Amino acid sequence: MPTDESVYSYSAVLMGSPILLKLFSDNPALASRVFGLIKQYEDLFTVNRAESQVMDINHAAGVRPVVVSRAVYQLIKCAKAASILPGSAFNLAIGPLVKRWRIGFKGDSVPPEAEITSLLAITQPQDVVLDDAQLSVFLTHKGMEIDLGAIAKGYIADRVRDLLRREGVTEGLINLGGNVQTLGTPQGHWSIGLKKPFSDADVLVGAMEVSHKSVVTSGTYERYFEQDGRRYHHILNPQTGYPLDNELDSVTIISTDSLDGDIWTTLIYGAGIEKGCQMLKGRDDIEAIFVTKAREVVLSSQRQFRFTLLDDSYRLIDRTA
Ligand code: AMP
Ligand code: MG
Repeated sequence: MPTDESVYSYSAVLMGSPILLKLFSDNPALASRVFGLIKQYEDLFTVNRAESQVMDINHAAGVRPVVVSRAVYQLIKCAKAASILPGSAFNLAIGPLVKRWRIGFKGDSVPPEAEITSLLAITQPQDVVLDDAQLSVFLTHKGMEIDLGAIAKGYIADRVRDLLRREGVTEGLINLGGNVQTLGTPQGHWSIGLKKPFSDADVLVGAMEVSHKSVVTSGTYERYFEQDGRRYHHILNPQTGYPLDNELDSVTIISTDSLDGDIWTTLIYGAGIEKGCQMLKGRDDIEAIFVTKAREVVLSSQRQFRFTLLDDSYRLIDRTA
């Protein structure tokens, strides 16, 4: 890792997350362009405010198609493709359930089962109708809502990387609160921490050495509430409408594009370790790190990164064939 003297760090709070940019020359003007770009995309994609292009689509559900910008259209098209994969745990139309559960927001509680069942009917990804020629999106039923929360940060991290590259930056890092995208190989590699679930933010289970790669983590510990001794976290099972329930505390994906990382963390989180590792066979560019409730760290493979375990209460399992 570079010495602290040579790293210039810039931070902001955007998309409800702390954002960190690291550069190797002092360039506040570039940092403010980066934060401006993130904000522009946030303004297009957010569903946490009344107004955005995605909210325009949601407000017109069951009424009419809405023409959107190319970025919004492309991201929705990509999210729909991931959602209609057979058995996919990813669902861009999960919005009504996310809004009803309010996990991580004030007033979160377990909704009545009958409500969850009726909301499932308006979360079908096939009912998101796209028109490539018009760049329009139509939600065919009233009450439908697109939610890009599982994918937007990945897309934006890649656009920040592209901007930095265009500006001639050869080494840098952007962390959008769980989505890390890196440029270059400062003194050989970047070292990215893997968080210990349900611990203070700076407590790590291990660290990955990567270069020119994205590292994305989805964890049940990121947003959740507890009711009657049970924990309810923010990644929902599109089949049941309840939080995904399996052996995992977190999934991390190492990939070239952060967009892939963001989609695959959800896909793999839903699939679990066995099926997840099967799904990754033949995808040399995408690798997973699973952290289990039973205190194991399982690597699907270790081609694009090197992992170091830092917590000896965890057991490391490397499934590289
Ligand atoms: P991430 O932090 O990338 O795992 O994304 C989590 C966010 O994605 C949640 O806060 C919801 O807004 C949304 N979400 C929850 N469950 C799903 C799902 N099954 N498919 C797609 N998005 C989801
Ligand atoms: Mg994601």
